[in-house]
Amino acid sequence: MRTFDIKIPVVEARLDELTPAQRELVNEAIEATTRSYAPYSHFHVGAAIRLDNGETVSGSNQENAAYPSGTCAERTTCFYAHSRYPEARFETIAIAARGTDGELVADPISPCGACRQALLEYETLAGHDVEVMLVGRDRVFILPSVRSTLPFAFAEF
Ligand SMILES: [Zn+2]
Repeated sequence: MRTFDIKIPVVEARLDELTPAQRELVNEAIEATTRSYAPYSHFHVGAAIRLDNGETVSGSNQENAAYPSGTCAERTTCFYAHSRYPEARFETIAIAARGTDGELVADPISPCGACRQALLEYETLAGHDVEVMLVGRDRVFILPSVRSTLPFAFAEF
């Protein structure tokens, strides 16, 4: 028997420390929060994915009165991205959220487990790490890959 640690390298950056490309994707995720349909939770989430064909796709959470029928912003976005551009591969994803006060959440938002698993599928398809940017009001967490957000992920291979 042995014990081992799983370490996840996280870069914490201020918004003004991001590269122009990172900042652009973060801004698209923030902008997508304004298109959220969240009449129940009032928690407005936006996501933006940059693809290797140069396109960027964004989406937001879409809730439903039959609660489980709605989808998170991350899955709205990754499913749309892959259905719109099935040949393209994901490069980077940014996720942002506004709380009930309408302001960006103070701490960087983190995807739920179902979204991590869904995003991992597209990282696997890409064949390379997909950078993940979790956006907060004053800082962004940058993770090197989707897999780093989901240790012991389910995989059918
Ligand atoms: Zn989710």
